[in-house]
Amino acid sequence: MSEACSGNCSSCSSNCSSREEAQDMRIPCGPFSNVKKVIGVVSGKGGVGKSLVTSMLASAMQARGNACAVLDADITGPSIPKSFGIKSRAKADESGLLPEESKTGIKIMSINLLLESEESPVVWRGPVISGVIQQFWKDVAWGDVDYMFVDMPPGTGDVSLTVFQNLPVDGIIIVTTPQDLVTMIVKKAFNMAKLMNIPVLGIVENMSYAVCPDCGKKINIFGESKIDEIAAELGVPVLAKIPIDPKNASLVDKGAVELADDKYVADAVDFLKKM
Ligand code: ADP
Repeated sequence: MSEACSGNCSSCSSNCSSREEAQDMRIPCGPFSNVKKVIGVVSGKGGVGKSLVTSMLASAMQARGNACAVLDADITGPSIPKSFGIKSRAKADESGLLPEESKTGIKIMSINLLLESEESPVVWRGPVISGVIQQFWKDVAWGDVDYMFVDMPPGTGDVSLTVFQNLPVDGIIIVTTPQDLVTMIVKKAFNMAKLMNIPVLGIVENMSYAVCPDCGKKINIFGESKIDEIAAELGVPVLAKIPIDPKNASLVDKGAVELADDKYVADAVDFLKKM
């Protein structure tokens, strides 16, 4: 093994004994799916608003006339159906499993659409969860989709690996908050994508600040943000800075995330459209 081994043989010129030819493990989608772009939304840890950002990006993109879908790969913490107000179970016909549609027509597949009750826990081991994600990709009849957003589980574990290896991910967006550990956590997610040869499209800083309802002043609840420096160091753009907004939390709770003000993600959507 070369001393400078990064584990990624495809970008290394060394001819060492552990060299392995890069294997293409991507699975083709099913015959009833035509998905043009696949964008993974990742976070280094849970609770930073990854699902909210996924939902807002899909809603804003759909509102601008693009056919969007959300594949909820956060199998043990699926929150996508709830934020879009979808309570029905997924159906199937001869073309395969059918995604449910949100009020504005966003196609959605999530484990919660298949469980008896949305409160049933998913107590499955990694390989089973990975199998479900593969099925969501190849056995669901997605139809024509311009942008599929994949709400990834937090962290850099088994399931993230499955998505990166098996789905033709065009790029990822890293969602984070302005806290102390951010540098390390963002870099972990960034380095995993690099290792897997997946482009990092940019970073979204969620809960970036709050606005005082009385005087309109911006308050940096988690302290001064370092996101611009981190992004510059990694050579990727900051695609959005989203404030803490109780209205958004309440829209998610009501299943009406599509009504959230999309001005904060408008630039990110314009950026993605140029991909
Ligand atoms: P994750 O997917 O990273 O675990 P979620 O998107 O589920 O995080 O967000 C966790 C909770 O925080 C949800 O209740 C969500 O509505 C709320 N939340 C996330 N971002 C914001 C925000 N910018 N303003 C207000 N509430 C938010």
